[in-house]
Amino acid sequence: MISKRFCIALFCVLAVIFTGCTQVSSGDKAPAAEKPAAKQETAPPAADGKTPKQESAKPAADEKTTTQETSKPPADAKSSKPALPYVIAADDFSNLQLSDAAQPVYDAHTLSERIRLGLPVALPALSPYHGPKTAYLTFDDGPDDEVTPAILDILAENGVKATFYVTGLHAAAYPDTIRRIVADGHAVGNHSYDHDYDRLYASTDDFLYEMEQTDEILHGILGFRPLILRAPGGASSHFTDAYEACLKENGYVEHDWNSSAADTAPGNPTAQDFIDNISSQTADGKESAIILMHSSSGHQETARALPEIIRVLREYGYQFGVVTPMTPQPW
Ligand SMILES: [Zn+2]
Repeated sequence: MISKRFCIALFCVLAVIFTGCTQVSSGDKAPAAEKPAAKQETAPPAADGKTPKQESAKPAADEKTTTQETSKPPADAKSSKPALPYVIAADDFSNLQLSDAAQPVYDAHTLSERIRLGLPVALPALSPYHGPKTAYLTFDDGPDDEVTPAILDILAENGVKATFYVTGLHAAAYPDTIRRIVADGHAVGNHSYDHDYDRLYASTDDFLYEMEQTDEILHGILGFRPLILRAPGGASSHFTDAYEACLKENGYVEHDWNSSAADTAPGNPTAQDFIDNISSQTADGKESAIILMHSSSGHQETARALPEIIRVLREYGYQFGVVTPMTPQPW
């Protein structure tokens, strides 16, 4: 009698536990494992920061290694879904020697988090990417909800990945566009909080403060932050040696450009001007073309020029890549 009651009670307890596990599992799983639409990217890889090894080369496989895994084998079937279109740096940055020019890299930790957790901050020595001739389309100063989405549409139609150096101010105003940039497989880079030269170039501390401010905003939207940045106006025009040292010490990699659409030039330049500028600046066949354009509000002509710019670069024999800490410097 007693043992029968005991068995019934035990069965009930197990049933409750099993149901509970199932709910936790599917609830936690759903956002990360689905097709990389914008919303899913919010699933915070930051939480996975404790298991850095899994974050490395094949994010799809890594997704499964979260704690829910044990509870529900069928959920593992989702592991065969497409890999996330980016790599999350390991806590010790040991997984960053990548050979795919089109794979963005992010960090699950902000700089202040790394310091607080006692994790390395400076990047280890990384070999620059050397593969086929590569063009890096970069779009600064966005995002917005008009030009940037139009550019994203064109990039998708052409199967091209690019890099968006965004300000914290605009990222906070257009978080959905930020999510789409990442979900579409492009790279997001840091371009300061609000592009104010006076404040940025007052001191290295001021510059670093703005970079961290923007990182916090991007981390809040995405659950991770970039390691790449572009100095507003270009490092070559504004940096002293102290700035270079400061960035190196804090694990940021800056890239200027070696080709420009000049789409912020005065005199209302047109799409054809941008096409001509890029065409002439890449005709020399440079191995690595880092191309400056802008995707902030008002740059519709840049979007109009983009299909032809992509066609010309392909005709010149370029593949397209995204900027990572391994991207060679433009000069
Ligand atoms: Zn800028």
